[in-house]
Amino acid sequence: MAAAAGGHAGAAAEARFISSAKGKGLFATKNIRKGETVFVERPVVSSQFLWNALYNYRACDHCLRALETAEENAQRLLGKSSLVLPHPEQCSTRKDLHQQCPRCQVTYCSAECRQAALEQYHQVLCLGPSRDDPTHPLNKLQEAWRNMHYPPETSSIMLMARMVATIKQAKDKEWWIKAFSQFCSKTANEEEEIVHKLLGDKFKGQLELLRLLFTEALYDEYLSRWFTPEGFRSLFALVGTNGQGIGTR
Ligand SMILES: [Zn+2]
Ligand SMILES: [Zn+2]
Repeated sequence: MAAAAGGHAGAAAEARFISSAKGKGLFATKNIRKGETVFVERPVVSSQFLWNALYNYRACDHCLRALETAEENAQRLLGKSSLVLPHPEQCSTRKDLHQQCPRCQVTYCSAECRQAALEQYHQVLCLGPSRDDPTHPLNKLQEAWRNMHYPPETSSIMLMARMVATIKQAKDKEWWIKAFSQFCSKTANEEEEIVHKLLGDKFKGQLELLRLLFTEALYDEYLSRWFTPEGFRSLFALVGTNGQGIGTR
């Protein structure tokens, strides 16, 4: 999202607002050569797919960079622990830089990511010793999501949790609310279609269950409108389409 991160200097494209119906689009600012990086942007929030995490695909909890080496990745995916990949020096995974949250043990690719997560949302979302407690509201929410949305996953409910947590932690809450709301530009009908697509035929009941669990885990008076049925549906539709600037992997 441009307001938070923006393209890097010399980027060959920039995000521009097109219309409230279309949202933003990417426009070339010069001729682009083959192989050239077109655009780089840091997501406002990102979150790993929950099934991927459950299946032990280890990624930085903040930037989603892989924590396993290319060889470990190939071994895990092929179920072959004896597999050896040539040229290990080409692998960019730097295990010596990895860091954990001392309270809940989620892992980051670097001290920078651990600090960035802590400053933006992790104080609210850190499960501490309750990490594996199935009765913790955040774990109940994730379990419900996994049971409604089997792989291949296209989104994660934890994106919404990170958005709420970001605002809970922020000093300038209005700035963040404005930043997130610029992604919400859909009509009620469009939102309902997205929710239907994501959750299947029983989507109304499923969405209401998610809203109740989400409220139990994260309710905040300042953000009360996000927890109403309409507000929650808008937020969910935004996350369901992986709005620009918001990412999953
Ligand atoms: Zn990272
Ligand atoms: Zn933690």
